[in-house]
Amino acid sequence: MLGLMQNQPLLISSLIEFAQRHHGDVEVVSRRVEGDIHRYTWADVSRRSHQVANALKGFGLDMGDRVATLAWNGYRHLELYFGVSGSGRVLHTVNPRLHPDQIAWILNHAQDKVMCFDMTFLPLIQAVHAKCPSVKHWIALCDADKLPADSGIPGLLSYEAWMSSQSTDFEWPDFDENSASSMCYTSGTTGNPKAVLYSHRSTILHAYAAALPDVMCLSARDSILPVVPMFHVNAWGLPYSAAMVGAKMVFPGPALDGKSIYELMENERVTFAAGVPTIWQMLLGHIQPDGLRFSTLKRTVIGGSACPPAMITAFNDIYGVEVLHAWGMTEMSPLGTLCTLKNKHLTLSKEEQMKIRLKQGRCIFGVDMKIVGDNGEELPHDGKTYGDLYVRGPWVVDDYYKPEGSNPLVKDARGRGWFPTGDVATIDADGYMQITDRSKDVIKSGGEWISSIDIENIAMAHPAIAMAACIGMKHPKWDERPIVAVVKKPGAEVSREELLAFYEGKTAKWQIPDDVVFVPAIPLGATGKMLKTKLRETLADYQLPGL
Ligand code: AMP
Repeated sequence: MLGLMQNQPLLISSLIEFAQRHHGDVEVVSRRVEGDIHRYTWADVSRRSHQVANALKGFGLDMGDRVATLAWNGYRHLELYFGVSGSGRVLHTVNPRLHPDQIAWILNHAQDKVMCFDMTFLPLIQAVHAKCPSVKHWIALCDADKLPADSGIPGLLSYEAWMSSQSTDFEWPDFDENSASSMCYTSGTTGNPKAVLYSHRSTILHAYAAALPDVMCLSARDSILPVVPMFHVNAWGLPYSAAMVGAKMVFPGPALDGKSIYELMENERVTFAAGVPTIWQMLLGHIQPDGLRFSTLKRTVIGGSACPPAMITAFNDIYGVEVLHAWGMTEMSPLGTLCTLKNKHLTLSKEEQMKIRLKQGRCIFGVDMKIVGDNGEELPHDGKTYGDLYVRGPWVVDDYYKPEGSNPLVKDARGRGWFPTGDVATIDADGYMQITDRSKDVIKSGGEWISSIDIENIAMAHPAIAMAACIGMKHPKWDERPIVAVVKKPGAEVSREELLAFYEGKTAKWQIPDDVVFVPAIPLGATGKMLKTKLRETLADYQLPGL
């Protein structure tokens, strides 16, 4: 027997309609590429996303056609989020930090018809446009008078000239909620990038889940600053969740340095911010020396890579800002787990609580996860046993768009498909998951695994260390031994011996790295993660001590 409830499709257009109707006067504030602050409301986002939808119609785009963006976090990007997806086209957010050849490859693979870009990326567009024949319209996200006369890009339009003359009347179409809404390519550290194609349904369900109290706890009383880019997994879905709850939105544009972020937080009374650890490192680096405080910031979600303990302590204990350590991936829209304490943990000592906060957290309702061994057997949730982390759920990838290989899912005995994340993790009896490594970065020494994240966290707790990357080096007896490559803080000094001594008592003796290598910088990938493959290449001639 079927239920007798209304079968309304879950569509992204319903988010902007809701925000306009019920929170139309709430502000959306952006630092623009031009450097100034732009201020308007959700009602304006709605009006202008109608204009975007009409302008796309004028291009004769079909449902499902891809519209690409190369843009920072800002109001025009937000209008495209709703105007493109709401009208049934697919928003393809491209990561500008990728190599130009990779960007051209991605635009061709997606067969984008339109490309909207911030003026920052004009040189990038000039380098790739001739290699991307599918793109018929190039649109610079600027006023008409900011358009260069001789860009060399045929038919280049300014966004404002293109869309602002359009009618503000537009009726969002109804269609199947499983239709594609947006796409994001994985960073492709090995092989070509892979395209994850989100649906309206997956996006709305993810937006609901993200707003839950034990997840990001978002509400109409929040002022939300997504520092995490809108070009990487839809800024962790925050534009959608913010519209759903009617929160104020604050966009940093291209100014991601500590001073600019801090000023924006204070001026716009930001209560909630989200970003990767490297960004928060810059923010703390700005406020700590001058003894500055946060007057409104309450919570910050930190994810994308492991959050070092020193960062959790600084935010929680010094500034009274709750750190929500989160884990996810492009293939998961991206949220999988988030670390909030359970009631029974509130009476634990600070040290015991810290052990939990360092974990990547508990499953969000909607995501199911398990760890499996080499033969696919499910491993116990005892907080000690490591295994490959598998996930399933309505906002987890089912297959890649135009896949180059076979379907990534692994079927269980009941025929259900699980996505192997490529992460190695433990899960404890309370359901807290902790990532120990990417499977390709696991260090195996004498038959035992060493977690590179643990080794990095210890180094990062040293006052002289800004960044640390632990990698395994071939060893004739132990198979592999860890070494740690570190970047010193400006002006700080520490010797190899001092740093190795710092490990004493903090981890098992056999897990202490065999060596410390001082490097000027750790290579980072397009999404701010450490590129250990590149680090290994730069240390190709390195020899472990004593060999
Ligand atoms: P991406 O798809 O580029 O967002 O990368 C996803 C990968 O980032 C995950 O599979 C993890 O390896 C890593 N990652 C994300 N969040 C965390 C975290 N909190 N701690 C450790 N690794 C993380």
